[in-house]
Amino acid sequence: MHEYGIAKDVISHVLVEADRYKASEVKQIKLDVGPLAMVNKDQLMFCLKAVSKDTIAEGMSVELGSLPVEIICPEKHVFQIDKPIDDVFRFLTSLRCPICGDKASIKSGREIILKEITAI
Ligand SMILES: [Zn+2]
Repeated sequence: MHEYGIAKDVISHVLVEADRYKASEVKQIKLDVGPLAMVNKDQLMFCLKAVSKDTIAEGMSVELGSLPVEIICPEKHVFQIDKPIDDVFRFLTSLRCPICGDKASIKSGREIILKEITAI
């Protein structure tokens, strides 16, 4: 499962950071997930709980945020798509820059960003 690998990466980063600050308990993390990361948020939450079990991050709360999808064309015009995710995928198959009409590609929206860790 794709979400399990992501959860393992996230928790390992969290534990490294917590260790760096000699924390004894991780209270909360904030994760931003791009709509194109193809992450099932319920599965990700489940995997984060499973992977953090028996670590200092067990029982932490997780706040999941979103990120914009950004598109860029060869002329370096950047624009955001703020459509529901199903529409984004339909839109991506015929991606044109709205300014110059050139073929555009995805600049961001696939990433998963560990934004904040609260630990004591
Ligand atoms: Zn353009």
